[in-house]
Amino acid sequence: MSELHSPVVDVDRFLRIGNQASKGKERRARTLDRRTDATTRPDEDAEDWVSEPARRVPVAERVDVLVEEYLGGTVSRVGMESVSWWQYNDAVKSDGLVKDLEDLAKSMRATSTFPYNDGLNLTSEPFKRVADAFASRHGVRCLFATVVVEAIMEGQKLTGVLVENIAGRQALLAGVCVDCSGNADVLHRAGGRFTVLPADQRMGVTQVFSVSNVDKAAFLRYTEKKGATYNNWGNDGGEKECETEWKQETQGGEGDLRTPYLEREFQEAETRGVLPKDSNISGSWSTLTDDGELLNLNLVHMKGDALNPYEVSSMAQQGREKVADAISALRTIPGCEQCKLRTFSNNLGVRDSRKCVARYNLTGSDALGCSRFEDSVCVLPQIVDGYGVLVLGSEGGEVEVPLRGFQCDVDNLMVAGRCFAGDHVSHCLTRNIKCCMLTGQAAGGIAAAALGAGETVWGLRAEDARATLRRCGFRCDVEDDGMVSSS
Ligand SMILES: Cc1cc2nc3c(=O)[nH]c(=O)nc-3n(C[C@H](O)[C@H](O)[C@H](O)COP(=O)(O)OP(=O)(O)OC[C@H]3O[C@@H](n4cnc5c(N)ncnc54)[C@H](O)[C@@H]3O)c2cc1C
Repeated sequence: MSELHSPVVDVDRFLRIGNQASKGKERRARTLDRRTDATTRPDEDAEDWVSEPARRVPVAERVDVLVEEYLGGTVSRVGMESVSWWQYNDAVKSDGLVKDLEDLAKSMRATSTFPYNDGLNLTSEPFKRVADAFASRHGVRCLFATVVVEAIMEGQKLTGVLVENIAGRQALLAGVCVDCSGNADVLHRAGGRFTVLPADQRMGVTQVFSVSNVDKAAFLRYTEKKGATYNNWGNDGGEKECETEWKQETQGGEGDLRTPYLEREFQEAETRGVLPKDSNISGSWSTLTDDGELLNLNLVHMKGDALNPYEVSSMAQQGREKVADAISALRTIPGCEQCKLRTFSNNLGVRDSRKCVARYNLTGSDALGCSRFEDSVCVLPQIVDGYGVLVLGSEGGEVEVPLRGFQCDVDNLMVAGRCFAGDHVSHCLTRNIKCCMLTGQAAGGIAAAALGAGETVWGLRAEDARATLRRCGFRCDVEDDGMVSSS
C-alpha cells in the first residue's frame, strides 16, 4: 500500500542504525494495553488494590471535539522553543495552521531566529500569550488545570472522558476525542493497544533550563570560533566519543551544517573536576537574547521510565541537581563566566513513552523513504532525529501519513502528536513539534469529517476525510498545493 520516494536517504543503512541500541541489542517495542500494562499496575492477585466506590458524575459539557489540558505542551511547559531548528537549505517551510501560528507569534514579538538558519523559535514565555490568542481566534474554549483520569466507553467506542479539576470529578462527553497527551494517556485509559520500548532503550529525559547574565558578544565570539556542526554531535573533539543519544549519523553534507552544540566544554570540565565523571551533560541552546539570557538549554539528560511516577519524581530532583553542576561547567565557557540560573522548565522533557497501535503504524522505512499512501491525509517534513539517525530534510523530503494511522481500536479516539502510531524510528519523525502540530491538525479535520458524514472515525472513508481537510486548505498529500478547495 505504500511506496518509498526518498531521493537521498540510504534507507537500509539508517534503519540498521536506528534498530541498534547503544549496547548492540535490537530495539523491540512491547505491545501493551491497559489490562497488561505491568508498568503501572500491580499483579491481579496482589493484595495491593482498593475498590473505588461507583458514583454519579455530573456531565460538565457535551462538545464536538475534545483535545487536552494546557496550551503549547512541551513548547510552553518545557521551554522547547526550537520548532524549526532543522530548516536548512530546501527543507519544507510550514504552511496551514502552523504558518498562521508562526505569523501570529511574529506579530506578537514572541519569536527569535534559530542561530544558524532562518527557522523561527517560538520563545516559550511570550508564546503562552500567543497560544491563548490563537485558541480564541479559532473559537477553541479552554479548560485548564484539568486532567483526563478515565475514559467513558460504549463498547469499543469512546464517548467522552472523566476529568479531575478544582471542581472535583466531571464528565466531558464528545463526538470525537483527540489524544495529544504525549503519553497516549486517553488511549491507555480506554484500554487501547500501544507499544513501549524497554525504559533503558528509550531516548533520554531532559531537565531543560535557562541562564541569565551571559556576555552575548563574548559567547558568540567563542561559538563562532568553535564552529560546531552536526558532525560534532557526540564527537566534539574532546577526549572521548560521547556515549549519549547525541551521537547520530547524518547523510552527506548535512553533517557539515552549523549547530549550537556544546559537549567538549563539559568533558573538559569533567577532566578538571568541575563536573562529576560521566555526568552525561551535552547538547544545545537556541536563543541568546540581547539581555544575556541563554534559553532552552537542552543539556541535562537522564535515563529513566517516564511512565513510572516514582522515577519521574526522582528524575525531577536529580535533574535540578544536575542543572547546578551544568551551570558550574557553563561558567568555564567564555561569555558565561557570570551566568546565573534563570529558570528550570516546569516539566521534565520526555521524548519517548507510549506509542499508539493503529490500523497502520508508520514505519522507519516510511519515514526514511518518504512513503506515499493512497489514503494519505497529512504531509510531514522529513526530519528524522533520534536513535542514531539524523535527517534534516534539507533536500525537501516529505512523508505522507495515511488515514489508517489515525484509526485505532478505540473508535472515535485519535492519537496525534508524539504518541502517533509508529515504530521507534518513525517516532523520530512524528515526535518533532511541527509534525505533532500537523498530525494534530489532521486529526481535527478527520474528526470534523466523521461528524459531518455521521460516521465513526473507524468507518470514515479516506475521500471524505481528504475532502474536508482540503476545504480548509490542508495538504493531504504531496501533490496538494495547500489552496482551499471547494470540492
Ligand atoms: C528535551 C527535548 C528537546 C526537544 N527538542 C525538540 C526540538 O528542538 N524541536 C522539535 O521539533 N522537537 C523537539 N522535541 C520533541 C518535541 O518537543 C515533542 O515531541 C513534542 O513537543 C510533543 O508534542 P505533543 O503535543 O505530542 O505533546 P506535549 O507537547 O507533551 O503535550 C502534551 C500535553 O498534554 C497534556 N496532558 C498529558 N496528559 C494529560 C491528561 N491525562 N489529561 C489532560 N492533559 C494531559 C500535557 O500536560 C501537555 O500539555 C524535544 C523534546 C524534548 C523532551
